[in-house]
Amino acid sequence: MLVTGASRGIGRAVALELGRRGFSLALNFRASADAAEALRAEILDGGGEAFLLPFDVSDRGACRAALEAFVSEHGAFWGVVLNAGITADAPLATLPGEDWDRVLRTNLDGFHHVLAPLVMPMVRLRSGGRIVTLSSYSGLHGNRGQTNYAASKAGLVGASKSLAKELAKRAITVNAVAPGFIETDMLAELGEGVAGQVPLRRIGTAQEVAALVAFLFTDEAGYITGQAIEIDGGLGIGSSG
Ligand code: NAP
Repeated sequence: MLVTGASRGIGRAVALELGRRGFSLALNFRASADAAEALRAEILDGGGEAFLLPFDVSDRGACRAALEAFVSEHGAFWGVVLNAGITADAPLATLPGEDWDRVLRTNLDGFHHVLAPLVMPMVRLRSGGRIVTLSSYSGLHGNRGQTNYAASKAGLVGASKSLAKELAKRAITVNAVAPGFIETDMLAELGEGVAGQVPLRRIGTAQEVAALVAFLFTDEAGYITGQAIEIDGGLGIGSSG
């Protein structure tokens, strides 16, 4: 099982939850090597299996090289959680082109960079499979100051639904999970006061997202594919009432 962006936040919670459920894990990260090593140690302490697999998801060549080497040594992944993502928020009129590019390259191009090398080995396993991508409330509904991020997250939904159609006959499911405000380093960048916008009147936890992602890896979830599942305290309903 590969989790990208596993060193912090939602990816870390997903890795811990999948580790608890007995999945062997490849923990991807870009910069936070100490945090990733601490996570690996925690999974090993719990009796699980985990490997560090650092690469930058925005770098197509680096992804292919790292993933092909890992698969040839350890075998194909049965499951992938495409979680790594970044924000660089600003109103469009003042958004630097470089920030448009790096958000799209990481969040959306990462879909191709990571999954293209992994799909055929997964198909050849002939045991089905699971792919979960992390989209966002912004990708489904838009958000002021996030044209770049929303475009990348909307793109992930389209890519995930299309891949779901491509892989359904192989019993590989592909779903997008679309969180609202979740308490992580990324949310800290949005500042105070966001909980008041949420119908449930609180921000969510990484563990709550991890529980949903982990459910998609169960046998019970085997008939769910091509979905964008919102986990946002009701934010996507519209009015907070
Ligand atoms: P976070 O706390 O900022 O953590 C981001 C993770 O992604 C880190 O482990 C980071 O690793 C990794 N990462 C970033 N760029 C990378 C790259 N180029 N290559 C490899 N890894 C990279 O973010 P989060 O809040 O947990 O968000 C996780 C996912 O959920 C993202 O896709 C985000 O868009 C989505 N999401 C989050 C929220 C929210 O409210 N938090 C809401 C909706 C959607 P390093 O530290 O090593 O760079």
